[in-house]
Amino acid sequence: MIVLGNSESWPGIGKTAEHLQTGAHGLDALVPGLSLVEAETKIRSVGYGGWPNLLGNMEFDASVMDGTTRDYGAVAAVPMTLEVTRLAKAVLDNLPHTMLVGEGARRYADELGFDKDPVLLEHSKQVWWRKLEKVMSAEQKAQFPNTALAPLTKAITDPEKVRDTTVFLCKDNRNNICTATSTSGWAWKYPGRVGDSPIPGAGFYADSRYGAAACTHTGEMTMRCSSARTIVLALKLGMGLDEALRLAITELQELKSGYIGGVVIHAIDAAGNHRVVNVGCEEEINYWVWTPELEKAEKHKAILAEDMHTARVEALP
Ligand code: ASP
Repeated sequence: MIVLGNSESWPGIGKTAEHLQTGAHGLDALVPGLSLVEAETKIRSVGYGGWPNLLGNMEFDASVMDGTTRDYGAVAAVPMTLEVTRLAKAVLDNLPHTMLVGEGARRYADELGFDKDPVLLEHSKQVWWRKLEKVMSAEQKAQFPNTALAPLTKAITDPEKVRDTTVFLCKDNRNNICTATSTSGWAWKYPGRVGDSPIPGAGFYADSRYGAAACTHTGEMTMRCSSARTIVLALKLGMGLDEALRLAITELQELKSGYIGGVVIHAIDAAGNHRVVNVGCEEEINYWVWTPELEKAEKHKAILAEDMHTARVEALP
């Protein structure tokens, strides 16, 4: 068994480990762990602690994936909802669809009896407006919110590097490998912007026979490269975990146009090995891991992509 979580998974990784120890299926262990992260106001990228879009509204993306059946459920740009990972799991469990977005996803939350909650902290609201005010002309300010938002998106790109996603990957005691993701996405994003966290193959992918991967930070890049799927497919084709990661890193580093930023890749293989790689993030990246030999989850530093490149693997043609 193993649970791997990003730097901000600390409020919930212990809960997920507890569930795994009682024999829970991976997906049933991941959701209660993620719910604790979503409720923690100190975590500034998801749930209550997250950041709003340009209009000051929270919109969340989340997913769950079962690597044994390759079933997944996802929600994207969902307003007024805290427990979006639980909602994504309900999509997987109950609907013939795999993803709901926006008002449709919120409607489904209503049908399930989820609380309606604006999920915007007063502090986040103040920071949101202060940042926005600085990049608006007097005319834009007078017209706001009835002013074109696209120019503001460029001016305010990632103003405080306040992006991140909670990602959990686990292998349960029956060798099911599962993933879960949850995020408020890119702070000050254009309303309706969807990142990689609900997109299978980009922000997450799991196949219990080979392993799983989940990404944080610049979803605009992992969506272009299908990074999570690349890693799991490479494992399927017989590469080792490091080799599979090097392939995904090379593909990300080949991107030269569009919005380029950092990416963090979290991955496990079917044998329970794990790796977390910082691909171009300026800040130090940490992660959490739990295995049954450990009393509690441990925090470690991610390896730098540069240090993974000692034996460079060419991208497939
Ligand atoms: N990857 C997420 C997104 O693009 C955000 C993040 O992890 O920083 O929405």
